[in-house]
Amino acid sequence: MTGCTYGKGNLIHLDYGKNAFTFYRRSDGKAIRIVTRPDAWSSILDEEHLALRQKMSAGQATEADQQRFQEIHQQRSKIILERPLDSMFNVTELTEAQVPAKARVHNSINCAGCGEAVMETRSRIFRGQSYCIPCFEARDRRYT
Ligand SMILES: [Zn+2]
Repeated sequence: MTGCTYGKGNLIHLDYGKNAFTFYRRSDGKAIRIVTRPDAWSSILDEEHLALRQKMSAGQATEADQQRFQEIHQQRSKIILERPLDSMFNVTELTEAQVPAKARVHNSINCAGCGEAVMETRSRIFRGQSYCIPCFEARDRRYT
């Protein structure tokens, strides 16, 4: 929807364990932050759905249970999609947003191990050759 991707470097994942999204628009400096409301899920809590999910996690669900779970799951998805946005999320306009620095594009090289393209800045040198991190670590483990 936004055109942002990891590859372009304009999609930034911050592993804070939160369901929060901040969008910046460079053209006019506008920014919004969208956070899932703490009561978003409890307001549509479905005891049967919960019980079936626990049964499935425990590997004790029958085929009928699984079918019923899918049925409720689809109903719940529809409910969520049809709800007003502000019943699920808190949306805040940021006035003095800290806009991230522009993404830098780096060259790719081919890993001497697997041959896959890897961003040069992420590659590692081992005995004079460039490797992707998994191939480097496999060699490094072998020789330490
Ligand atoms: Zn590799």
